[in-house]
Amino acid sequence: MAVEKPHMNLAVIGHIDHGKSTTVGRLLFETGAVPPHIIETYRKEAEAKGKGSFEFAWVMDSLKEERERGITIDIAHKRFDTDKFYFTVVDCPGHRDFVKNMITGASQADAALLIVAAPDGVMEQTKEHVFLSRTLGINQLIIGINKMDAVKYDEKRFNEVKEQLSQLLKIVGYKPDSISFIPISSFVGDNISKPSANTPWYKGPTVLDALNALKEPEKPTTLPMRLPIQDVYSISGIGTVPVGRVETGIMKKGMKVSFMPANKEGEVKSIEMHHEEIPQALPGDNVGFNVRGIGKGDIRRGDVCGPADVPPTVADEFIAQVVVLHHPSALTVGYTPVFHCHTAQVACTFVELQKKLDPRTGQVKEENPTFLKTGDAAIVKIKPTQAMVIEKVKVIPQLGRFAVRDMGSTIAAGVCIDITPKQMR
Ligand code: GDP
Repeated sequence: MAVEKPHMNLAVIGHIDHGKSTTVGRLLFETGAVPPHIIETYRKEAEAKGKGSFEFAWVMDSLKEERERGITIDIAHKRFDTDKFYFTVVDCPGHRDFVKNMITGASQADAALLIVAAPDGVMEQTKEHVFLSRTLGINQLIIGINKMDAVKYDEKRFNEVKEQLSQLLKIVGYKPDSISFIPISSFVGDNISKPSANTPWYKGPTVLDALNALKEPEKPTTLPMRLPIQDVYSISGIGTVPVGRVETGIMKKGMKVSFMPANKEGEVKSIEMHHEEIPQALPGDNVGFNVRGIGKGDIRRGDVCGPADVPPTVADEFIAQVVVLHHPSALTVGYTPVFHCHTAQVACTFVELQKKLDPRTGQVKEENPTFLKTGDAAIVKIKPTQAMVIEKVKVIPQLGRFAVRDMGSTIAAGVCIDITPKQMR
């Protein structure tokens, strides 16, 4: 049986027009992820249009045209293999649901590839995406300093941009020393999969080398068990079967469990994954499990299952650090949008704006601000309008993040730093 390579979700981030799409196209192309029949189609089209040689740029242009015409082709899967891993490219910030998907775990990235154009250096979205990556818990970063062809492969310019970036990374809490800064041209193909003769001064890894050197994320098995409920079924002959993905800890057969905020207890009778019974479920496992002592109507999507002796925390109020990503005007006390946290969606009120922070340094800029605007970071107090489970991000990171949505867009993202729990019994 073929052994599956470990899977990694890769977020490609960076300022608009710095070359994210081109880099992804280049990676797909050079790792053989573009299906041969598509390359053949392009080759023929290129010839027919009198373009003698088949070039990568042609692939990119054609892809762009097809995207604009709304045609979906195989390459849209954006999956590629390296020697060690297979990667799925998750949507970039800026795409509508990136932040929400990251937070609810639908596309939690294991690593990020940050693209910065050498001629421009660090720009607004570079800062925002680095801050967001840190907030969302992406610990591994690779940096491609792109468009090196446009600065004549100048080592001095590379070092300037590297220095700018190092400052920024340090401020938000990344360690620049353990991050690869790679001079690339996605257009030309320098240092993507092969060392480039255009950068003889560069001795480090190519992008593919750096991707291969990423660490496989460790499963958080030592944390308390948490399984947010996605759905609940009632199966005749078996009983109540909640389904969901284990985020942290280990669910074992025979375990006494508690569902919050439903405040119901039961015992795990059996666990099933891919239609097979398993004795225990680990983080990342999508399972259905039968619980004795719980009826279908007792629990629902958004409830969280945990061990009865360390039940999920229900917040009466919580303190959060948020960053406002997109608000049409000013966010003030009383604002009550929907918070998306694990599988729960609960309307919550901003009851206090405690401190406005410098989003880059975390330094307090203003006490008790009267409003927050796009780009602001702040410490706020939140009151859910209905009971909801959330955990301190320092204790159980997977359940400590949330996205704030209103009128179809993501207004803010944040992490829970303190909780006033609701007494449940
Ligand atoms: P995105 O918005 O970050 O996805 O950027 P794109 O990949 O769409 O690229 C923006 C523009 O920069 C396009 O016109 C690309 O052709 C160009 N570009 C991308 N990579 C390079 C590069 O390595 N060198 C040069 N000179 N231009 C590039």
